[in-house]
Amino acid sequence: MNGLMMQQPLLVSSLLTHAERHHGDQQIVSRRVEGDIHRYSYRELAERARRLASALDLLGISEDGCVGTLAWNGYRHLELYYGVSGSGRVLHTLNPRLHADQMSWIANHAEDEVLFFDASFLPQVEAIAERVKSIRHFVLLADRSAMPASSKIPKLLCYEDLIEQANPDFEWPLLDEQRASSLCYTSGTTGNPKGVLYSHRSTVLHSMAVALPDALSCSAAEVILPVVPMFHVNAWGLPYAACMVGAKLVFPGPALDGKSLYELFESEGVTVSAGVPTVWQGLLTYVEAIGRSFSTMHRTIIGGSACPPAMMRAFQENHGVQVLHAWGMTELSPLGTACVLKPSQQRLTTEQRYAIQGKQGRAVFGIDMKIVGADGAELPWDGKTSGELLVRGPWVVGEYLHGEGGSPLVDGWFPTGDVATICPEGFMQITDRAKDVIKSGGEWIGSIDLENIAMSHPAVAMAACIAARHAKWDERPLLIVVKKPGAELSREEVLQFYEGKIAKWWTPDDVVFVDAIPLGATGKMLKQRLREQFQNHLLGERA
Ligand code: ADP
Repeated sequence: MNGLMMQQPLLVSSLLTHAERHHGDQQIVSRRVEGDIHRYSYRELAERARRLASALDLLGISEDGCVGTLAWNGYRHLELYYGVSGSGRVLHTLNPRLHADQMSWIANHAEDEVLFFDASFLPQVEAIAERVKSIRHFVLLADRSAMPASSKIPKLLCYEDLIEQANPDFEWPLLDEQRASSLCYTSGTTGNPKGVLYSHRSTVLHSMAVALPDALSCSAAEVILPVVPMFHVNAWGLPYAACMVGAKLVFPGPALDGKSLYELFESEGVTVSAGVPTVWQGLLTYVEAIGRSFSTMHRTIIGGSACPPAMMRAFQENHGVQVLHAWGMTELSPLGTACVLKPSQQRLTTEQRYAIQGKQGRAVFGIDMKIVGADGAELPWDGKTSGELLVRGPWVVGEYLHGEGGSPLVDGWFPTGDVATICPEGFMQITDRAKDVIKSGGEWIGSIDLENIAMSHPAVAMAACIAARHAKWDERPLLIVVKKPGAELSREEVLQFYEGKIAKWWTPDDVVFVDAIPLGATGKMLKQRLREQFQNHLLGERA
């Protein structure tokens, strides 16, 4: 017998309709590319998103066509999030930090029909315009007064003009919840990037999970500033979850330096933020340099790569900001786990609690996970045995766009490529990405632990540990270090710092000091690049 409840599809537009009706006055504040601060309400967002949906009809975009964006975090980008998906089309957020070759490859692969972009990205768009034949319209996210006098792009359209002519009473279509709503590409560190095509259903379910108290805990009482870009896996779902709960949203635009972020946190009363560790490094350095602290921020979500314990301590002990460590990936929409202590663990000592907080956390409802050995057999949750992490759930990729690479699943589970342990309480800890593990004489050494220790040294700004080729052990850990400005630090001091903190054979064989570690398009360390440069370092033949 079936249940007798209403059949209502889970649609992205329903998040906005809810926010408009129930939190219509709630504010959305954006620092614009132009530099000024823009503010309006969810009610105005909803009207402009409807106009945009109608403008896509006027432009003749196919009913389920892909709409590319190249934009910072801001209100117009949010209008695209809702207007594009709500109308049945697919929002494709391109990462502007990618090289023109990659960007045009991705836009061609997605068959984007129109590209909306911020003025700061005009040069990138001019570089790819000719190479993406599917794009029929280029729309600058600006008002008429900010349109360039001339551009290499013929018939450049103005966003504000476009939506002004469109219908504010556009009605959101009742779509099938399985229909595609947005598209993100994996970083492609191994082979070409692959498209992950989210559905309305997966997006709404993911938003509900994101908002839960033991996940990212979003509510109408919070003021949320996603530093994580809206082109990085949908800003971890925050633009949807904020709408769902009616939270005030604050967008930093292109100004991601410590000073600009701090000023916005303070002036808008931001309570929760989210981003990758490298962003917080800049913010903490700034706040500490001016001898100030945060007056309203009480929680920051750190993910995308492992949060160094030293950063966690700095936030919590020096600024009273609770760090929430979270893990996910493009293929998971992205949230998989969040590290919220269980009540029984609150009674542990500070050091014991830090040890748990350093883990990536517990699975949120909807995500199931397991670790497996080389033979595919499940491994125990003892907190010590490590194996490849597999996940499944309603917002986990089932297959890539255009069936690229065949089915990624193994017996219905998605292999993440991460190596992890899971403790008896269900807390997962990433020890490495499979491709970054250091295989020393058949034994595995996790690079994240070694990096975290180095980064807790007061003179170290950033550290990456890579597998370097070794005549006897195949691979040995090599530490690449960026010193803090003006700091003195020798190789011997770094190596001594490891004493007593790890098994002796885990100690890196050597330390290389560099001015900067290359970062990828989402702010993560590009270890592949370092490997190319330094893999022969221990063989004595420097690249
Ligand atoms: P990419 O890094 O390839 O651009 P994603 O942005 O999807 O792709 O990143 C997913 C990967 O990032 C995960 O598989 C994992 O290796 C890493 N990651 C994400 N969050 C964390 C975290 N909190 N700790 C350690 N690694 C993380």
